[in-house]
Amino acid sequence: MHRERVAENVYWFQSEVYAQVTAGAITGPQWAVLIDTLALPEETLEMRDFIENDLKVPVRYVINTHHHADHCWGNSFFPGATILAHSLCRNLLMEKGPNALEAARKQNPTFRQIKIVAPHLTFESGTLSLRVGKKNLILMGLTGHSIDGIGILVEEDRVLFAGDAFMPLPYVIDGDLDESVNTIKRIGKMGLENIVQGHGDIILRGEIEDAVKENLNYLSAIRKAARTATKRKNPLEYLAEVDIESCGKSRVYLSGLSADLHKRNLRVLYQRFAAEEPTESGKEVIEAEDNL
Ligand SMILES: [Zn+2]
Repeated sequence: MHRERVAENVYWFQSEVYAQVTAGAITGPQWAVLIDTLALPEETLEMRDFIENDLKVPVRYVINTHHHADHCWGNSFFPGATILAHSLCRNLLMEKGPNALEAARKQNPTFRQIKIVAPHLTFESGTLSLRVGKKNLILMGLTGHSIDGIGILVEEDRVLFAGDAFMPLPYVIDGDLDESVNTIKRIGKMGLENIVQGHGDIILRGEIEDAVKENLNYLSAIRKAARTATKRKNPLEYLAEVDIESCGKSRVYLSGLSADLHKRNLRVLYQRFAAEEPTESGKEVIEAEDNL
């Protein structure tokens, strides 16, 4: 697990084992707020050990940026904490979590340590503020990657923990392309010092404009490719040839997972567009997709 101090009392953690997933912590004199947990129990425990034993503050709140397993399955390691999230995060986690956990346990026994813990305190619209020491955290909806996505702005430092609403490769199979475009544009206009992405590295102030452009260009490229596919005789063959580089992204992103995520983006968008304008090609069956 990588660890970095982003600003005074603001910390960032990044997994070295799963898709460069990230988490954050903001500490006050008495207690800390954790933003997301990591994908595997050992990394979440390592992070907890750092906050509670090195920084010497207990985690009183855990904020879940959205319901995907790699961001909130570590909730049960903070039994004394209040879990905060969007109300849809709670619903989706309770609806999908138990079966997904059952399946994960069969593949990797380490998930036997996990219990799904639903958020205790939720909000539906607008913003929610949380004061920790000298810092004001503003929780706000950031949809696109998922319908329940929220971001956390550390107001004093202009640091945004964006969850998966901002990623090295935008991933929309469980979300909405148009909402993702709007959210990325909105983030670009927030006047930020740093964006902490849900996966990948921290984006610094001078890099934000290019990162926003690159993500918007990518979404526009995959939209175009998926639309074109609906007009082709062999849409899936056509899509197989639309590689990640031709859409302005690199296959080295996200520990090498990005080429695969790109393919899933294309297939799911194609499926959605084909369903809007039913054609013969729209009937091709596409297998179930995993979330990230
Ligand atoms: Zn996600």
